[in-house]
Amino acid sequence: MGTAENFRAVLAQIENARTRRAARDEKIILVAVTKNHGVDLMREAIDAGATDIGENRVQEAAEKFPQLERSVTRHLIGHLQTNKVKPAVKLFNLIQSVDSVHLATALDKAAATLGKVQDVLIQVNAAREPQKSGVLLEDLSALATFVDAAENLRLRGLMMIAPNLPEPEDCRPLFKQMRKLFDEMKPAREAFDFLSMGMTHDYKIAVEEGANVVRVGTAIFGERVYT
Ligand SMILES: *Cc1c(COP(=O)(O)O)cnc(C)c1O
Repeated sequence: MGTAENFRAVLAQIENARTRRAARDEKIILVAVTKNHGVDLMREAIDAGATDIGENRVQEAAEKFPQLERSVTRHLIGHLQTNKVKPAVKLFNLIQSVDSVHLATALDKAAATLGKVQDVLIQVNAAREPQKSGVLLEDLSALATFVDAAENLRLRGLMMIAPNLPEPEDCRPLFKQMRKLFDEMKPAREAFDFLSMGMTHDYKIAVEEGANVVRVGTAIFGERVYT
């Protein structure tokens, strides 16, 4: 199948999963993850209806985005180093991977310099995987308070990458836990709207448990070939 058919199939699966959940009327954003794919596939996805594009690396996005004449919401979903905050603020509408006060401080400064209020999510390492980025649950509240107070950042929600378990169903409790946390944090904040979780192998379960942003690459574009 081509990109357009795949994209529509994923949208249909999301729609199905949405009807199985409690917050049935919530809008769900599908971020098409184009890392390691060319601008041609980005265009195909956008022409098929994609409104949101996700990239992992600042450098790759800096090469691809200027070639993309289409208008689309741009998400940074990969780990961000403090030496790349300035191009990141220039390139992305939503930075999903804020995971330390150190990074938040650098982003706030870069946003101030560029005269922008940068929308961000805090990435949570809910499963405490040592190889993964993300703030640990016990440090989340302090980081959220810091981002709340940062003048040039706007905290829009949380992001989580679930462990890559052979049986994605086993991630369900983690998704549920994240939605509970999201609901607890939301009332105190003005624009805390996004809970980003779910990838190709687990997005249906993530949506059933309350994700309202999913990041899907392989199911839309096929396997990535790394050279
Ligand atoms: C690559 C990536 C995705 C998409 O993964 P697929 O399994 O291809 O859907 C989603 N989120 C993040 C953070 C990623 O790095």
